[in-house]
Amino acid sequence: MSDVMAAPRAKVEEKLFQNRYLVDAGRPHIKVKPHTTPSASLMSMVTLCPAGCYSQTEGGQVEVAADGCLECGTCRIVTRKTGEVEWNYPRGGFGVLYKFG
Ligand code: SF4
Repeated sequence: MSDVMAAPRAKVEEKLFQNRYLVDAGRPHIKVKPHTTPSASLMSMVTLCPAGCYSQTEGGQVEVAADGCLECGTCRIVTRKTGEVEWNYPRGGFGVLYKFG
């Protein structure tokens, strides 16, 4: 067995749990623009966001809670053409603090 095969493995969830997040209260760095019916792109974020920041309201709209955002940029790219998401990096010192990689 090679050294690579013998290396201990950690689950993604375990690695993500090591990260810390500093919330910039009242200044979310990602906002969903007001809408009545979300596009398919925006709706897909409910399942695509690796941090589970997106959810659907009872009224059918999509909302985001940016706390815990990994700043991967997926939502920024997926909704680029529809313009439904306003995306900025958090202010310096806020946001995700990666512990591994
Ligand atoms: S940047 Fe990534 S982690 Fe953050 S809200 Fe968008 S998809 Fe989720």
